[in-house]
Amino acid sequence: MKNLIKENLSILENRIKSACLYSERDPKEVKVLLSTKTVEVERIQLAVDAGYSLIGENKVKEAEGKFEVLKPQNCIWHMIGHLQTNKVKYVLKYADLIQSIDRMRLVEKLQNRCEYDNRNIDIFIQVNTSYEHSKFGIPPEKALEFIKQVSKYPRLHIKGLMTIGVLSSKNDKVRDCFKRLKEIQLKALELQLPNSSFNELSMGMSNDLELAIAEGSTMIRVGTAIFGKRPYPDSYYWNEVNKE
Ligand SMILES: *Cc1c(COP(=O)(O)O)cnc(C)c1O
Repeated sequence: MKNLIKENLSILENRIKSACLYSERDPKEVKVLLSTKTVEVERIQLAVDAGYSLIGENKVKEAEGKFEVLKPQNCIWHMIGHLQTNKVKYVLKYADLIQSIDRMRLVEKLQNRCEYDNRNIDIFIQVNTSYEHSKFGIPPEKALEFIKQVSKYPRLHIKGLMTIGVLSSKNDKVRDCFKRLKEIQLKALELQLPNSSFNELSMGMSNDLELAIAEGSTMIRVGTAIFGKRPYPDSYYWNEVNKE
């Protein structure tokens, strides 16, 4: 098991290097976030031992348990799954950054809870660049207006944007998703909004990280390519059931 994860990580690093070489980028510009849904702490620990410290979880309950065990490792924890407003106070206990900000009701709840806790929180704005109904995120056309609104909430610091590329064998279609996110980043930067920096583009997963890197990704979220196949299909984590 240990060797398998190590080997997977070294294959991953080679993929990142090749993709960066191809798009004339510095591999240091691309952070790897371990996407650890359904992965047990013992296996996460192996990746942490190999030098990785950025962890992304999708569900608050699952993350809470793992955080308790892995706390001494001083990892950085990102929330990358759909966030229900009634989970806001719990997510703030472990998350350093929330990547899935996609609606005003959530923004208001977060701001209120941060005021109550007297703290701030870093966030990414999630954009639905594939226009799939099954995916969460703000539609690209509405993203800039949404971002302007969010920047008025001083406890929330916008550090970047996040998207999930369309699941397609057509590279052009996948790439278009990442291009859309990059375009929104450039427009958002021009606005020079308060409480925001927009340096990070969280895009690219096991199957499409090369395309995302070519379009400017600064953070790839990788699960399967490191830890192997998951027991549940992604629809279990991404579907509409919990949608508010
Ligand atoms: C599961 C998940 C990933 C990782 O997907 P893989 O294809 O296993 O690399 C990335 N981002 C989000 C939001 C996820 O839910």
